[in-house]
Amino acid sequence: MKQSSRRNFIAQSALAGLGTLIALPSLAANIGSENTLANPFSSPIKTGFDQQPLPYAYNALEPLIDTLTMDIHYNKHAAAYSKNVKEAAQAESVDITKPLEDVLSNVSKYSVKMRNNAGGHYNHEMFWKLLSADATTQPDATLLAAINTSFGSLDELKKQFNTAATGRFGSGWAWLILTADKKLAVTSTPNQDNPLMDIAEKKGFPLMGLDVWEHAYYLKYQNRRADYIAAYWKLLNWKTVSERFNSI
Ligand code: MN
Repeated sequence: MKQSSRRNFIAQSALAGLGTLIALPSLAANIGSENTLANPFSSPIKTGFDQQPLPYAYNALEPLIDTLTMDIHYNKHAAAYSKNVKEAAQAESVDITKPLEDVLSNVSKYSVKMRNNAGGHYNHEMFWKLLSADATTQPDATLLAAINTSFGSLDELKKQFNTAATGRFGSGWAWLILTADKKLAVTSTPNQDNPLMDIAEKKGFPLMGLDVWEHAYYLKYQNRRADYIAAYWKLLNWKTVSERFNSI
């Protein structure tokens, strides 16, 4: 047994012993607050039920994302998800002063309307922040190291993400997630589902997501989804992705 392993073993044994004690105020307090131990995807980055202002002008991402698409996407599609999730929350007695994440992690207990619109609202609130005309073009050092560990290289991550985004049949999203065992993974979900949902096939905390619904690109790119995906990489603000990664 190496020195470090021995130390871990001794520490774990000591913890196991402590676990038999009834009074463990610090640990008990931890479990009670924020679900730190119960929910491995807990992050201080939280989402509310109201639509936040778009962080740039409708024409800011021209020519890669055209003004009309941005206007309709934000003011019609995304605004409707926010309106509808609040309606569902009222009908299903959900406290909208609490984070939306609480609903997502238990979404199977709610209606289909809640699932579609809670997902739709969360996904878009994150999506706008991932794009920028003056984007930071590289992950920070910590995230890059994690990408290299999980994928071998940034290029390999891009390849897998592109495959997930082009391969999603119909409407949905491609994701880079941090899994419960702190590994990075690429996944994709149908419709407005996302990896925070208890019904997701592959669960994790979303670091970046790409909307591949036709409403996100059809006016400019028509059937050329791959060109739209290439535009996403040019606009992707790695600063946001790195912040999300470092929040956990
Ligand atoms: Mn959309």
